[in-house]
Formats: sequence, C-alpha cells, structure tokens
Amino acid sequence: MSPEVPLQPEPIIAAVFALVWGSLWGSFLNVVVYRLPAGLSVVRPRSRCPQCLTPIASWHNIPVLSWLLLRGRCAACQAPIAVRYPAVESTVAALSLAVATPWLPLCLASEPVGWQPVLALLGEQLFVFVWVAIALIDADTFVVPDVLSLPLPLLGLALAALVGDLRGVTWQQSGAGALVGGGGLLLVQWLYGRLTGREGLGTGDIKLLGGIGALLGLVALPAVVLAAAVQGLLFAAAFAVLQRGKALQDRGLQSIRHLALPFGPFLVLAAVQWLLLHRWLAPLLGG
Ligand SMILES: [Zn+2]
Repeated sequence: MSPEVPLQPEPIIAAVFALVWGSLWGSFLNVVVYRLPAGLSVVRPRSRCPQCLTPIASWHNIPVLSWLLLRGRCAACQAPIAVRYPAVESTVAALSLAVATPWLPLCLASEPVGWQPVLALLGEQLFVFVWVAIALIDADTFVVPDVLSLPLPLLGLALAALVGDLRGVTWQQSGAGALVGGGGLLLVQWLYGRLTGREGLGTGDIKLLGGIGALLGLVALPAVVLAAAVQGLLFAAAFAVLQRGKALQDRGLQSIRHLALPFGPFLVLAAVQWLLLHRWLAPLLGG
C-alpha cells in the first residue's frame, strides 16, 4: 500500500466488530450445544464449571481470551476445560467475519447505512450460527433438533422476500429450494427406505436441507448435497485409515459401510462453503 493512501479506519473497526460479535455467538452456541440436547434452559443458570460447579465469573467468560489466560483450566478447581470451547468460539468468529466481508463495502458505502445490506449480512450470519449449533449437536447426538432446524425455511423465505435482489436469491428460488430440499428428499428417503429397508437420510437432515435450500436457493442444492456426500465419504475413509479399523472393531462393525456418520455436519459444511464461495463457484457451474 502506498503511503499517500490513508488507511480507512471503518473497515478495520467493522472487521474487529464482526470477530468480537462472532466470538460472543460462539460462546453462546457452546452453551446451546451442551444444554439443548439435555433439555436444559439455554439462558439460566449462568455457566458453571462442570467439575466443581463454581459459576464462571464474567471476566473468566471472555471468548477465547479467558481460556488462553487461564491456560485451559478452571480458575477455581484447575480442572481442564475442553479445547473445543475456544475452538468453537474462534471458528464462529472467523465465520462471522467471512460472511460479513462481502457485505461490508455495501454497508459502509452509504451514510447513513442502508438497512438492506445490514439485514442480508445479519440474516446470513444467523443461518451460519444456527447451522454450527446443528452440526455440533448432530455430531454429538445424531439428532438435529427441530427447534433449530424448523424456523430456517421460513427465515430464508422472509430474507428472500426482503433482500432477495441484493442476495441474488429471489423468493421463487428460495421457495423452490425449501420445497425440493425438504419435500423432494422426503421422497428420496421414502424410496430408499422401501428399496433397502434402511433409513439412509435422517428426517433431521431433510429439515436441515429445507432451510439450506431456502437460504441458498434451488440452484445451490445439487452442489451442496454432492459436496456434503463427497466430504462425508472422504472423512469416513480418513477416519477408517487413521483408526486402522479399531473404531470399527470397537463397534462390532465389519466394514466402513456400516460406520454410522451423522450427515448433518457435512451438509452444514457444504452449505457454508457454498455461501462463502458461490460468487466464484456459480460461473464455473454455469449457474
Ligand atoms: Zn472447576
């Protein structure tokens, strides 16, 4: 950068704000992922150390930083705090910034800031935050909670109706995506069940895919499902090689084909990839 060009402070402030915003969401999502499957309230009581049950002081509850300062241990009883907590917080912070980045120039271009790009930005972030919670809960419990997955198709449609032009996903694309993602796959699931007598795709995955179609549009669905399936298979293969069959033996399984993997995390991964990369991917795919 040449010295004559003054560094604009606004984009840097906005980027820092997006990171902090995302890390706070990550901290909240850690609570949701832990408490929702257990049927506990996500707001009360305040977070406690699972070992000694000491309530965590707010200055010990700063995303990522507290974990680093406390060297990954509870301040009261020194029990180790899982690295997953700061990992989720920093991942969600990075995703918050990544989703915001294409919108920031639009948001900062006008004075005062127009509501449409801000709504598009916050709407996409909300989807990604809920998706992260769904992916983690599905990975932990093999369940996609309805309370997280069912509002998303409606939210996606509302977002398309309000800022569809700006996002390039019309309400028709959104509605068709929700219908095909939800309804179409219900048909595939039923056929697969009839033909093989097994459940291939969980009903939770189908509800999740309805929301993915509503946000990203019908055009995204084939690529998202394919990318999810390919990455899921690669993960399963890598898992089998790294474990050298131990995980299979432990579970009494004969081959990788019988290894049950939740599909939700891979659908979320592929949906986030599409959301972040579709501006570059769509021309290549003829979309
Ligand atoms: Zn403790």
